[in-house]
Amino acid sequence: MGNPTGFKEIARDQAEYREIETRLTDYGELYTPIIEDHLTRQASRCMDCGIPFCQSDNGCPVSNAIPEWNDLIYRDQWKDALMRLHKTNNFPEFTGRVCPAPCEGSCVLGSVDKPVTIKNIEYAIVEKGFDEGWIKPEPPETRTGKTVAIIGSGPAGLAAAAQLNKTGHKVTVYERADRIGGLLTYGIPNMKLGKNIVDRRINLL
Ligand code: SF4
Repeated sequence: MGNPTGFKEIARDQAEYREIETRLTDYGELYTPIIEDHLTRQASRCMDCGIPFCQSDNGCPVSNAIPEWNDLIYRDQWKDALMRLHKTNNFPEFTGRVCPAPCEGSCVLGSVDKPVTIKNIEYAIVEKGFDEGWIKPEPPETRTGKTVAIIGSGPAGLAAAAQLNKTGHKVTVYERADRIGGLLTYGIPNMKLGKNIVDRRINLL
């Protein structure tokens, strides 16, 4: 924990959504641009709890190491935070947009004050990673010679495919719809998840 008194000194300040009047002109995503200084301050509110309920089974279904990357953001180590985030989450750009953030509902700070803005921070880490060109295809050095078929190209199918590819298997993903992405493409509205964001990851895979 970089700042042991951050939670006492800094109030929660969640990123605003774009103005409705602006959104009505393009029907694009809700989110406003990342302000790094702001997030560094917000990350310093994390108390690095002895028992971090934010990353418990109830707090985060993928067990993101939330206090670790909060601390890295407080220290301005964005690339390390991205690596830490990707260790537990194949697609943080999707969860950082559409997850209902049970981590924030479980945040210990929330029992006495407003919780840490975990979702904003996750979103910012992965978007900075794309902006900086840190997120690239990482083909395995060797192939196992085994082939795997994945039925369905929703987030679960794509995550399974990504993991199997990393271990060296040759993976083919089958999809009955005319476009890849399943729920990401056909279930979540553009205001929450732009299809350019889905395509960005699919192209990478
Ligand atoms: S529960 Fe909240 S304050 Fe505690 S480690 Fe997680 S994010 Fe930080």
